Amino acid sequence: MVPLLAIDQLSVGFNTDNGEVTVVESLSLTAKEGETICIVGESGSGKSVASQSILRLLGENGIIQQGEIRFKGDNLLNKSEKELRLIRGRDIAIIFQEPMTALNPVFTVGHQLREAITLHSKRKGREATEYAIDLLRQVGIPRPESVMRDYPHTLSGGMRQRAVIAMAIASKPQLLIADEPTTALDVTVQAQILQLLKGLQEGSGTTILLITHDLGVVAEMADTVVVMYAGQIVEQADAGSLFDRPLHPYTQGLIHAMPSLQTRTGVNDERLESIPGTVPALNRLPQGCRFHPRCAYSQDICKQSSPPLVTAGDNRLVRCWLASLPTSSEPYATSGGQ
Ligand code: SF4
Ligand code: MG
Repeated sequence: MVPLLAIDQLSVGFNTDNGEVTVVESLSLTAKEGETICIVGESGSGKSVASQSILRLLGENGIIQQGEIRFKGDNLLNKSEKELRLIRGRDIAIIFQEPMTALNPVFTVGHQLREAITLHSKRKGREATEYAIDLLRQVGIPRPESVMRDYPHTLSGGMRQRAVIAMAIASKPQLLIADEPTTALDVTVQAQILQLLKGLQEGSGTTILLITHDLGVVAEMADTVVVMYAGQIVEQADAGSLFDRPLHPYTQGLIHAMPSLQTRTGVNDERLESIPGTVPALNRLPQGCRFHPRCAYSQDICKQSSPPLVTAGDNRLVRCWLASLPTSSEPYATSGGQ
């Protein structure tokens, strides 16, 4: 069966003052119907760019250097702008971190929601209004009839993001891309929005591609996790295996740095063990493994040659010499399994 989304060897670059810089390199992933894939990484890992490429929202400096992005078997990169406009919002919807990117401050919530509805369906007039109210109710907005008449700035951040989600699901998209959808919200509201997305997915079978830097969100949501570092996939696994036994030293570091629930809600102030150093600038990548300057397991080979992405058991991929070289003894001894 053709997967809903299949990204194959995608590389994306940007034109900068210092020439073209590759920000996503040879990324491949597939998403099945109803699956939630989380792409996780620090800022500068290329995770947002990878997701924006799907709808070609890269801006004028973005360049698809190679690869294919097939949606239900069709390569989206071969679509005209006009064809893509039909797909955007109808088959594939995207939600960003800041809800005001999607909302227009000069129109009421109801106006904008009705517009999203009439654009992609035959519902007009009274029917569109009723559907809009129903959508606001589905996303947990109290008194939806009255919120229809409100302007976005009168709503809280959480309510705004709910309104954006209502717009995004109006046409029942098959793929929902959510780029840090809860990052701007406080922890309680964040949990509510994640629950909402899960609930909506259970009802509709929508595939969710969730971009986040927060492993807590990943633990909550993901079926499959893709870990990105400096433009490359460094590990991919089902969520259970990834948290049980992270293979890549970067993933291990992210999991160590993950605050416990108590810390997230401010109950205790447990210190976080964060990964030393920062993501390298993409125009000044270190030779060899891109993570080697920050890696506690770095060996000579790591500084000289880039490790390939290799399979490591069922549906698992990892890009690390420790996994590729059979001679390494007990590679993940100190950090595997929390
Ligand atoms: Fe660390 Fe080497 Fe693995 Fe890179 S290849 S993550 S430097 S052990
Ligand atoms: Mg981002």
